[in-house]
Amino acid sequence: MAQEVTRATFDEVMVPNYAPSAIIPVRGEGSRVWDKDNKEYIDFAGGIAVTALGHSHPTLVNVMREQAGQLWHLSNVMTNEPALRLAKKLTEKTFADRVFFANSGGEANEAAFKLVRRYAYDHFGPEKHEIIAFNKSFHGRTLFTVSVGGQAKYKEGFEPTPGGIKHCDYNNIEQLKALISDKTCAVVMEPIQGEGGIIPADAEFAKQVRELCDQHKALLVFDEVQSGVGRTGTLYAYEQLGVTPDVLTTAKALGNGFPVAAMLATEDAAKSLAFGTHGSTYGGNPMACAIAEAVIDIVDTPEVLSGIQKRHDLFVKGLTAINEKHHVFKDIRGQGLLIGGEVVDSLAGKAAEFIKASAAEGLFVLVAGPNVLRLAPSLIIPEKDIQEGLARLEKAVAAVMAAQ
Ligand SMILES: *Cc1c(COP(=O)(O)O)cnc(C)c1O
Repeated sequence: MAQEVTRATFDEVMVPNYAPSAIIPVRGEGSRVWDKDNKEYIDFAGGIAVTALGHSHPTLVNVMREQAGQLWHLSNVMTNEPALRLAKKLTEKTFADRVFFANSGGEANEAAFKLVRRYAYDHFGPEKHEIIAFNKSFHGRTLFTVSVGGQAKYKEGFEPTPGGIKHCDYNNIEQLKALISDKTCAVVMEPIQGEGGIIPADAEFAKQVRELCDQHKALLVFDEVQSGVGRTGTLYAYEQLGVTPDVLTTAKALGNGFPVAAMLATEDAAKSLAFGTHGSTYGGNPMACAIAEAVIDIVDTPEVLSGIQKRHDLFVKGLTAINEKHHVFKDIRGQGLLIGGEVVDSLAGKAAEFIKASAAEGLFVLVAGPNVLRLAPSLIIPEKDIQEGLARLEKAVAAVMAAQ
């Protein structure tokens, strides 16, 4: 017999690092989710930019069922067909020649950061070990990734953290010029900062970052954990920026909710993760790779990719209309289906109030930092769900404004 559990159970048995809402969802279909009381929600969050093909996508359910009846796991002493097929697809569709599989964004970044250190060590010696990253960036929660990440609060109390890491302001090329040197082994950036507040990189800035990396023989790492797999309208965001990295990490939407991640690299960079230098027990397991292969097959089609800009325009139009009535945002920005609304100064620090108010109206939304409402819905969310969700969002906004 299944034990009865409620939200209160969380406070009894879980480590208190999360503070989940009172809702316990039990079922999802497309962009709709139902909780234990059968209340329906529209999902503008997609987990956190994860369920890019919505919930219970029939093709993914079938692929998962089929693979589940065949083979779940081996070890990295053996390879498997789904991993090889997925790696082939990822290399055919991107700049990359080589792939390393992991289980989460943080782990893919951990592999990337170890790779850039090892690459510089192999080619130039141990002095060349500095990593430059950007303020407000987010790269994961392991000790190395919180250290490269540009948000001090995630490091607090966990020191000593790995050294040799410097930070500068995003989109500020002069600061980067002042920091970069022949000791720099890599520059790490998100092509659009997600957790930091939905801030896209300027194309000119990104181009100059690439040039500075080349001048100083440093590798360029793009963290596309959030921006990848169609989120910004192309399979990866770097395609639109017109700047090609040496190393790219991808996770979140790659498994549509099943844990899987990858680090993609050029042939030259990949050589530095030679036999025995790095590994993962679960990384590249056949179950995860079969699902990710199906996700890539579906996302990387003209039908899905061409629908993203259309949906972006509907969201921006809807948010603009809400704003004209309620004067809640001072900026509405983003790319594809990663959209942010920065709240006006009178609501500073209060973006999270929209999560609760939206849930009450039957809608899931996200925040990106204290001041930005973030939407990261399914890439194939039906127009009807967009319109219904925006109507619910307007009610939530009105409720938040009335309570001020
Ligand atoms: C979510 C995220 C990560 C961390 O991914 P996990 O799967 O939670 O480890 C890293 N980088 C970026 C840009 C992210 O958005």
